[in-house]
Amino acid sequence: VSGALRDRWLARAEHRLTQAGLRAGAARTAVVELLAREGHCLMSAQEVCDRLRATGTASPASVYRVLDQLCDLGLLHRLYGKDGVARYEIVDPENHHHHLVDEGSGEVRPFKDEQLEEAIEKVGRRLGVRITGHEVTLRGSLERPPKRSQG
Ligand SMILES: [Zn+2]
Repeated sequence: VSGALRDRWLARAEHRLTQAGLRAGAARTAVVELLAREGHCLMSAQEVCDRLRATGTASPASVYRVLDQLCDLGLLHRLYGKDGVARYEIVDPENHHHHLVDEGSGEVRPFKDEQLEEAIEKVGRRLGVRITGHEVTLRGSLERPPKRSQG
């Protein structure tokens, strides 16, 4: 993660959590800081627990609770792989993207698509809804290497 993205996400996370009236604690701080450092790629709750085990700051129960809170506040994106395990990635509005799950390898790739964004805006207008967020996950098997669309 670039330093700028990390700082931006950390600041936003602290702000939202405080605004939501959620009390800061050692476990929350440890989870949030780990995600800011490494949450650019998908990590399972188990992986978060494993990374934090050495520090002794966060029990598995508190890791799961903090991950849920961050998802509820729109700070984390939760994605289920073919194995049914939830994995998490930090949400950065300035780097908005979606995911393609390769059902063959289970690999998750990010992609961007302007036409998809426009289509979603259009649907919002048609439904009379001001859309504040969306998530799109495509699943399939890769037939050829994907075109690079992620800048
Ligand atoms: Zn989008």
